[in-house]
Amino acid sequence: MIYFDNSSTTRPVEKSVEAVLSALTVNWGNPSSLHTLGFNAENIVNEAKRTVASAINSREDEIYFTSCGTESNNTAVFGAAYKGKKRGFRIVTTAIEHPSVLEAVKRLEDEGFEVIRIKPESDGNINEEAIKDAIDDKTVLVSVMLVNNETGVILPVKNIKKFIKEKNAPALFHCDAVQAFGKLPIDVNKIGADFLSVSGHKIGAPKGIGVLYVKKGVTVKPLLFGGGQQNGFRSGTECVPLIAGLSAAVKELGNIKENLEKQYDFCKTAKEKLNGTGFVKINSPKNALPYILNISVPGYRSETLLHFLEQSEIYVSSGSACSKGKGSYVLGEMGLDKKTVDSALRLSFSKFNTQEEIDIFIKELEKAVKSLKRSN
Ligand code: PLP
Repeated sequence: MIYFDNSSTTRPVEKSVEAVLSALTVNWGNPSSLHTLGFNAENIVNEAKRTVASAINSREDEIYFTSCGTESNNTAVFGAAYKGKKRGFRIVTTAIEHPSVLEAVKRLEDEGFEVIRIKPESDGNINEEAIKDAIDDKTVLVSVMLVNNETGVILPVKNIKKFIKEKNAPALFHCDAVQAFGKLPIDVNKIGADFLSVSGHKIGAPKGIGVLYVKKGVTVKPLLFGGGQQNGFRSGTECVPLIAGLSAAVKELGNIKENLEKQYDFCKTAKEKLNGTGFVKINSPKNALPYILNISVPGYRSETLLHFLEQSEIYVSSGSACSKGKGSYVLGEMGLDKKTVDSALRLSFSKFNTQEEIDIFIKELEKAVKSLKRSN
């Protein structure tokens, strides 16, 4: 099997599976219980907080566990918007955010907020000046992702907090780092985020566990009310097994910087080979994160190619996994022509993929092009 769909989800690492199992069979107590079983479970949660905190250079009391990246994004977006409501109504975001941000801001727009969605340039990049210009003194939330899930484009987030201060906006800054975490070094202080979202299943932990970093001193209304777990910010008994699995996966990330450098070389060679075919078009910008490579084979529909490749156990995605069959809005926003959008494939790599797999992928793609009828 060749798995080039790691941005949809990636295979859980062994240590993570072991940690989940151990928390299900040995340390299965409720972290809120006052006896030893509870204490052991609480230790797992606290240890996981320390692990995640050190991975993003935050304090451990700034880490909250959620059920997924979607919940983290929703909590930050609604929380920040409602908190700022009395002082402003503008939300600044980009047109290429994940649906868990775009759908949330759409809901807020229906409630009367003004949403500014910054469009990407034709190469997929977002212009920093456009973000700056969009922020005004009525802006309550700026939500900009760190890495786009379809093209791998890295967004210019590092000056956003500075712009907010310059514009004297009461805004909080949320950064969706779901596709960046574990692949790009992340320092929440350098990013200047008030909120930062992470998802476990993109880094070798199971599905169903997310993290929301909330800067110390920032208070927003929770999405869930109840027993007051996690300092009242996210009620609900902590999912200790998945938290343990996440912590173990974070520890297995290795040297992110070294991995990234290797990945740049890997992607450069892969792009040269793909360009060499003469029929593949590269849609990701040159400066994209090298774990995501968006390509098109104009004239051949994405789904047809995807299923052809699947017969040889090669797994890729047509756009993002969330867009299931719909043409990519991200590529559409870049102004790419319909033929390119309709034939897009997203290859997303892990550090375990090899050039031999790229060679096999290209061979199979060539076969597909020879045997499939052009769609126009
Ligand atoms: N944000 C981005 C950029 C993503 O790529 C995804 C998932 O693909 C999410 C958020 C949602 O994460 P989850 O699947 O954990 O809800």
